Amino acid sequence: MKAQIITIGDELLIGQTVDTNSAWMGSELSSLGFDVCRRISIHDLRLDILDVLAEVSGKSDVVLITGGLGPTSDDITKQTLCEFFKTKLVTDHEVLDMIEEMYKQRNWPMNENNRRQAEVPEACRVLKNRAGTAPGIWFEKDKTIFVSMPGVPHEMKHIMNEHILPELKKRFSSQAIIHKNIMTYGIGEASLAEILTGFEETLPKELKLAYLPASGIIKLRLTATGQDKRYLNTIMTEQIKKLYTTIPELIFAEDEESFEMVIGNLLKENGKTISTAESCTGGRIASMLTSIPGSSQYFKGSVIAYDNSIKTDVLGVSQEILEKFGAVSRETVEKMAEGARSLLKTDYAVATSGIAGPDGGNELKPVGTVCIAVSSPSGTISEKRRFGNERIANINRFSIAALHLVWRQITCQ
Ligand code: ATP
Repeated sequence: MKAQIITIGDELLIGQTVDTNSAWMGSELSSLGFDVCRRISIHDLRLDILDVLAEVSGKSDVVLITGGLGPTSDDITKQTLCEFFKTKLVTDHEVLDMIEEMYKQRNWPMNENNRRQAEVPEACRVLKNRAGTAPGIWFEKDKTIFVSMPGVPHEMKHIMNEHILPELKKRFSSQAIIHKNIMTYGIGEASLAEILTGFEETLPKELKLAYLPASGIIKLRLTATGQDKRYLNTIMTEQIKKLYTTIPELIFAEDEESFEMVIGNLLKENGKTISTAESCTGGRIASMLTSIPGSSQYFKGSVIAYDNSIKTDVLGVSQEILEKFGAVSRETVEKMAEGARSLLKTDYAVATSGIAGPDGGNELKPVGTVCIAVSSPSGTISEKRRFGNERIANINRFSIAALHLVWRQITCQ
């Protein structure tokens, strides 16, 4: 079961619009068991569209197309599909009634362009679009199903959910496919792959492992494909158990869970609270923690101690410590964390001080250096880490490293 995706629009090629349609359609097709073997983005040009249609025809079971179905002169997909499938545009009166009703309800004036949205290729099956005006268009040729949809993401999703996915589910005796993600943190991709060599070599043939790294977190995605879903679930559970015994200290969550979600759950379960004292991360850790719904139950507040005077006057870091060890030091962040924990009356407090860059580094403390401390009822721990040279990436990585230290302290890893 092979599928291909074509997205049409100049704006996709010049980076003005990110092609989120392909990602969403790819994920939906893959969860139905399709092998999405190609994604192609092309100009709104008749010849380019004709070329790509000829190229994919007969080579896969399904081709999903988005874009260029609108009423303006640059929207040429419909006419070009007519040319390719040797048919002509005719008005679909049901679609026209729907459009007229929508405009009447909203009290908008209708013009000729809006009426043209009801024109569809005579030889196609029309897929009604209750989220907009341009309907989806379904053709079959050389054992390939072609479906063209509007580019607007919520209209495309509506047509996919309402018409296309149910039909594809019915027509293709789908292979079972299961994805499971294991979230790890602590070592780089190459080192992790080395540790997991034996694990990968003994994986059952139905299972595939992928490494998906982002900001120091490596998502291990296990995909099981086959006919027998029960068997796939059994081998998936076994292999995940094996992962937990192979890299217990590196796994912090499953599926799409983030550190802030895991920490939030742990704090809620234990009835504990947290605060932050942030220099170089400027509130990013607090922002990540408060992005979780219900975080008011455990997050109390934050001190953005960017200037040294805030470290001393608000958090109580002594002048002596700052002068002796510097603002970016384990000693300073330990005192910052202790100061925030006492000031904001929380069970845990996390503190950061570092050099995000691009300037401000020196030989002893180069750009990318960060010191992190976590103060808790069982004491204060700290660490010094070194990341790269890019400011925003550093702020993100510093914050994730800080949340990792909080997680370690709460779970005593
Ligand atoms: P409409 O009926 O709205 O004119 P259309 O099929 O003509 O639909 P386009 O004009 O190609 O759609 O795109 C409409 C908008 O949808 C674009 O401005 C863009 O923001 C968004 N869009 C188009 N293609 C994609 C895509 N592949 N991924 C994400 N967004 C997209």
